[in-house]
Amino acid sequence: MAVFRNDFRSWLRTQLKPGWTESIESGDDKSFAEISAGFDFMGWMRVIGGSGYGAPLWPREYGGLSGESWMVQTIREELGRYRLPLFGVNLLGVGLAGPTLIDHGSDEQKSRYLSKILTGEEIWCQLFSEPGSGSDLSSLSTRAVADGDEWVVNGQKVWTTLAQFANYGMLLARTDPEVPKHDGLTYFILDMKSPGVQVRPLRQMTGSSEFNEVYLTDVRIPDERRVGAVGDGWRCARTTLMNERVALSGVSLDVTSITGGSRKDPWATFLDGLSDRSDPVARQAIAQLYIEQECKEITTFRANSARLRGETPGAEGGVNKVFNAEYNQRRSTFAVDSAGMGGIAWLPGNDLAQNRAQAFLRARANTIEGGTSEILRNQIAERILGLPRDIDVDKGAAWKDNRRN
Ligand SMILES: Cc1cc2nc3c(=O)[nH]c(=O)nc-3n(C[C@H](O)[C@H](O)[C@H](O)COP(=O)(O)OP(=O)(O)OC[C@H]3O[C@@H](n4cnc5c(N)ncnc54)[C@H](O)[C@@H]3O)c2cc1C
Repeated sequence: MAVFRNDFRSWLRTQLKPGWTESIESGDDKSFAEISAGFDFMGWMRVIGGSGYGAPLWPREYGGLSGESWMVQTIREELGRYRLPLFGVNLLGVGLAGPTLIDHGSDEQKSRYLSKILTGEEIWCQLFSEPGSGSDLSSLSTRAVADGDEWVVNGQKVWTTLAQFANYGMLLARTDPEVPKHDGLTYFILDMKSPGVQVRPLRQMTGSSEFNEVYLTDVRIPDERRVGAVGDGWRCARTTLMNERVALSGVSLDVTSITGGSRKDPWATFLDGLSDRSDPVARQAIAQLYIEQECKEITTFRANSARLRGETPGAEGGVNKVFNAEYNQRRSTFAVDSAGMGGIAWLPGNDLAQNRAQAFLRARANTIEGGTSEILRNQIAERILGLPRDIDVDKGAAWKDNRRN
């Protein structure tokens, strides 16, 4: 482990601007600010994505290191230490699309798409949720109808993160309405620049537009962009969803720790906002948050180990997703509370205060995105605790006969 860490550190030194690592090691914040100014985020994605360190668990032939889960942890620690972003804009590509293609894609699809996902050259989005189908995803209505060696797709997706920047989307569509809802779905790779794809950004309470509505009108997809068999979309989608839970449970999702593309120690960020560092209640709260973070890391490590053993990430991913979402809300609430009046009002130019408030508002979405905490708790109850299943009134009936809103 120490050898790997040293190798990674040496590699970082060769890739970053001269003085980057040294200024952090010597605590020279002023030099670091000068060296890191104008950090080329996309350029960095290409560098780390092309090195194998961007996805150490992926097989070597597809741009990973065929590595072990402790490597993920080591890389994350070193990136945090050197204030580098842990994930790029292609979180959905690396975290969701890549593992799904590795498990279910054809050899041609793997060699065509995987390396460009890693380098961030092709951004991906996830076209699953619809206005009438979120928690009950398998009830979705977007239709794909075969036409020669193409599919013609019509429907609407919503909440599609990054669709406005994406080159490709993981699309789940209904290909057979005559069978029960889980059995009539097929998984496609959608070229987001295809005629008939209309993306409309939605504005959130944070002020930014992370996600979009996506309208699909007579969009044609060649059959070679189908992932898995016709009607096997739910199995492929489950791989995406399970990996989404692992990906979201490992992310800090805390923009207070990111400054200008570089990462700041989140605990230092909390202390910056504290009016009285000797306050025993605040100190106890920070210690509690720290302990919870460590527990979370260990569970993420177990989930990654299971994935490496070839097991589909399951229980740990769900448990950690629920925990991480609520933890993030507790942490961002603490950050705002402990800053007192500074938590809600600040002078122009105070990026720290602005980021802190933004993180607090953004964290509200954590218990919804990637499956709500209520739904995940249902799954934990059923699959881990063995409690009776949630009622499904549509069970066994053809999708076309199901009641929908
Ligand atoms: C920031 C953000 C980003 C997102 N990005 C994407 C994306 O990129 N791609 C994508 O496809 N989707 C995305 N989503 C959508 C997300 O997956 C859905 O919002 C989520 O699955 C919930 O679906 P819904 O919004 O339709 O709520 P609904 O399913 O309508 O649920 C409404 C409420 O009812 C509760 N509920 C529903 N059914 C049950 C039940 N059986 N038992 C108990 N409670 C229940 C839910 O927990 C929730 O509180 C994103 C969402 C957010 C907030």
